[in-house]
Amino acid sequence: MKKYTTKDFQQEFPTDDACLEYIKNQRWPKGIHCAKCQKVTKHHKVRNRPCYECDYCGAQVYPTADTIFHKSPTPLKTWFEVMYRMASTRCGISAKQIQRETGVTYKTAWRMFHQIRTLFDDDCEPLTGEVEVDETYIGGKRPGKRGRGAEGKSKVVGAAQRNGKVVACVVQDVKRKTLVPFMNRMVDRNATLYTDEFPSYDHMARIGYKHKRILHHDKVYARGDIHTNSIEGFWSLVKRGIAGVYHSVSPQYLQSYINEYAFRYNHRKSDTPMFKIFLSRISLQAEKPS
Ligand SMILES: [Zn+2]
Repeated sequence: MKKYTTKDFQQEFPTDDACLEYIKNQRWPKGIHCAKCQKVTKHHKVRNRPCYECDYCGAQVYPTADTIFHKSPTPLKTWFEVMYRMASTRCGISAKQIQRETGVTYKTAWRMFHQIRTLFDDDCEPLTGEVEVDETYIGGKRPGKRGRGAEGKSKVVGAAQRNGKVVACVVQDVKRKTLVPFMNRMVDRNATLYTDEFPSYDHMARIGYKHKRILHHDKVYARGDIHTNSIEGFWSLVKRGIAGVYHSVSPQYLQSYINEYAFRYNHRKSDTPMFKIFLSRISLQAEKPS
């Protein structure tokens, strides 16, 4: 992945206008289609307002409409800076750090985070090929207790395509009736599944998957290609991140944190700097039919 330094950032986005221009070009790379003139026309930036105006008829267009920035009292440059800082850490950054580094209030930083995380709702294609499935338990009040059945912990089920993407969902329980719909949605029926011996996975072969299982209780954690190292690697990334940066996460917000980690993970092999990948989501989200 290409490096994108603080200096690069400051050069490319020195002002609110520069950020607005970027959003405009990203949303309308072939120019702005004027609704009145009914064609792509030349537009110019309106002074002191976050909008562009058609050179011919004067119709105005707001590039931040339908984006997370719309009607926010926080300057666009600050939004970009927060996104840049989020994108520049491997394991996440806290609202406290953002408050310190950008000068916005804690409440504002926190709100921005949650807005920005909505960019990470990735609707990816079902995973295929070799797919590892596993569940984990995050949070809870009793840090000593681990593993299945630990009280107060949030349950999360995840699937990782080897050398590919990961998906993970916070779930009510890890019973079969919960796992099967997750599988139907996230994992292609032609995939080969790798799981441990947890009984909820018992019927995966019956619903059509090729299924290979690891027998943890025999102390056999990996036998040849039968392992769940990819998804377990992702879990440890999430847990380390949450413990290191956020200390704890309320169950209500856990999914959006997981989405952020999954998003980083899924773009880990991209050549584009993470910050630019973050930015590319803005127009995608704005153009999405609601
Ligand atoms: Zn016009």
